[in-house]
Amino acid sequence: MTAPAASSNALDMSNYWMPFTANRQFKAKPRIITGAKGMHFTTDDGRTLLDSSAGLWCVNAGHARPEIADAVHRQLMTLDYSPAFQMGQPGAFEFAARLAKLTPEGMDRVFFTNSGSESVDTALKVALAYHKARGEGGRTRFIGREKGYNGVGFGGISVGGLVNNRRQFNGQMLPSVDHLPHTVDIAKNAFSRGLPEHGAEKADVLEGLIALHGADTIAAVIVEPVSGSAGVLPPPKGYLERLRAITEKHGILLIFDEVITGFGRLGTPFAGQFFGITPDLMTAAKGITNGVIPMGAVFVKREVHDALMTGPDNAMELFHGYTYSGHPVACAAGLATLDIYEREGLLTRGASIAQHFEDAVHSLKGRPNVIDIRNVGLMGAVELAPRAGAIGARGMAVLQDCFDSGLLIRNAGDTLVMSPPLIATTDEIDQMVDMLGTVLDRTA
Ligand code: PMP
Repeated sequence: MTAPAASSNALDMSNYWMPFTANRQFKAKPRIITGAKGMHFTTDDGRTLLDSSAGLWCVNAGHARPEIADAVHRQLMTLDYSPAFQMGQPGAFEFAARLAKLTPEGMDRVFFTNSGSESVDTALKVALAYHKARGEGGRTRFIGREKGYNGVGFGGISVGGLVNNRRQFNGQMLPSVDHLPHTVDIAKNAFSRGLPEHGAEKADVLEGLIALHGADTIAAVIVEPVSGSAGVLPPPKGYLERLRAITEKHGILLIFDEVITGFGRLGTPFAGQFFGITPDLMTAAKGITNGVIPMGAVFVKREVHDALMTGPDNAMELFHGYTYSGHPVACAAGLATLDIYEREGLLTRGASIAQHFEDAVHSLKGRPNVIDIRNVGLMGAVELAPRAGAIGARGMAVLQDCFDSGLLIRNAGDTLVMSPPLIATTDEIDQMVDMLGTVLDRTA
């Protein structure tokens, strides 16, 4: 494990503006991580933290895998950068071809980005361009979902439905976006194991929106198959099937935002395979490189891609791309990551330990302040009653107590979310849940 760096007391913290962080509170009590190996992080004061979050839902194969480090180093010394436009480098073609073998049938065209947010904005743009290429340029509306997290680009916060991600920006969003209702119903579904029984009919609101605006104005519906950042919200049984049927009936593209669910989180390579539903486009990032090099991808059904390839703009089919699209170092990291996933069976390992994980997280029922527990695959959430007048404060206090007692966990408001690396042993899962349980007892 890397030797701990100097203590945070020695850090000059005046310049770095931390993302999605209460910066002033953080500076008063910093949480500084200096090393990582396998299932653990190390802190600046030399303590070990068990990683129950796979970093931020991304380090699926565990930390500091030498195979990935070697591949990155080799690539840096061979071809460190190559222009992304009008030129290619072998790694991007090879990586796309390898990825296409993992995606649902027919979703084998791959556009590379550098993050989940870029993947979402790319998918929305592809949807618009697709309809335009087919002579249906009037299809410009998008439909997202309340509580959805689709990244932080303007496209992503427009279709996303987390109020906090939008309210500071004074309504400056994409025009013509509607939101389906979220599917949370604690009164009916509390402590569901796996997919909740109630709420599939919430998908039918889509029919109402289509009637209101006309199908010929709607480009795409985008949802996370399982909402992650809102606190792990598995879809009610039958819900995604209804969305698929309605979108198909009306020629509307269905985009699954698989930035979290992609790469084995549910025990299948992608959530589409878990649910038996094939969307038209799929966004990914995070686990694509085991989180170690920024990268994202949009997977596109052949028909959607081919409509653009045969469209009128044959000089350049899509006026879109990034300086770092298909970056050689990211592709090398991604290829080495896929080697590990495949060699160790990690993309399907979740299926064999999901039941253990479910039993473990549900064993926390009855602990102080726990009002709901949810899970699917290797995603789990323990929702706590908020403190009076201070939404999120209890969740944050639990995160801090966990950090102090050796567990890295994430909070979404007052919900603690777990997404262990896919290499986690059942003992390590039990250890995470025990540590969280001990902390929860202290909230009494
Ligand atoms: N979509 C989903 C479903 C996500 O969970 C995230 C990140 N948590 C994003 C998009 C954005 O990804 P990034 O932070 O890499 O831009």
